[in-house]
Amino acid sequence: MPVRHCACCYYCGRYFRPDCRHKTDQKACQRADCRRRRKQEAQQRWTKTNPGYFRDRYSNTQQWREAHPDYQRKRRRRLKSREIQDASLLDMIIGHH
Ligand SMILES: [Zn+2]
Repeated sequence: MPVRHCACCYYCGRYFRPDCRHKTDQKACQRADCRRRRKQEAQQRWTKTNPGYFRDRYSNTQQWREAHPDYQRKRRRRLKSREIQDASLLDMIIGHH
């Protein structure tokens, strides 16, 4: 994969140097405003395609874990399953770390 040495920020339009530690393609610079907007957009995009998916069923992560007691075990065995992808997104959206 080609390495980009500089890029134009998607939000503020300024040139920035992508952090080489990031594996994914960066489209926003390191300014706090741009990072926040990028994160918000990602969450909005997901909640748009999955309207009320988790929030309607489980009000918090603890409830979700109780309903899926073998999640940690499955996570290692079935990394590619749709269920695990959703679970990762749940953690991201609810912000439970
Ligand atoms: Zn920016």
